[in-house]
Amino acid sequence: MDRRQRFKKYDWLISKTQSILKHYSCPESCNASCCKNHIIDFHRKEYEKILKNVDKESVNILKSNAIKSELKGCYKAINAVEQCPLLINSKCRIYDNRPEACRSFPFVIFPDTEIGFGLTLLLCPMSVNIVQDYAQWYKAVNSIMYSQLTDLYEQYKNIDKNNDFCIEMKEHNLDSFIEFLEKK
Ligand code: SF4
Ligand code: SF4
Repeated sequence: MDRRQRFKKYDWLISKTQSILKHYSCPESCNASCCKNHIIDFHRKEYEKILKNVDKESVNILKSNAIKSELKGCYKAINAVEQCPLLINSKCRIYDNRPEACRSFPFVIFPDTEIGFGLTLLLCPMSVNIVQDYAQWYKAVNSIMYSQLTDLYEQYKNIDKNNDFCIEMKEHNLDSFIEFLEKK
């Protein structure tokens, strides 16, 4: 897969995550836990674009907290494992310009040598509802996956913050799953 195809795939996955996420909302009780337990990696263009579009104080925060990204293909990272420095009173101070990684969270798009990019879904108070719907979608096509995802939902349905457990979202399921959500 060449560079152009990889970027096309990345954009395609971003658009699919947004089509899924519009069906869900975050519970107030979560209190932005993903902004307190996360590393945000930026591609170079994205990092530079954000710097151009945010206020001066946010630029200072970004610049003084940015470290070199360890993720292949990425440029800078913000360590938000304790708390993202851009989170003020549980609100993102660059919300309209927040990085793609935050925009598509709890989905994570990761580089893959064979398929360009793959997609996983991390578990969190909102994404357990996606898992539940994904299990329902699987019901008609794969009873083993239906049962595994239903068990997973039952096990995690009351989690109060995000964790590192994730499930794979197979790209060939995405359009059909989105169609399923549109019809719900
Ligand atoms: S951890 Fe999940 S539920 Fe909580 S704010 Fe982040 S995306 Fe929303
Ligand atoms: S940039 Fe904003 S959305 Fe992303 S982790 Fe920081 S506070 Fe949260």
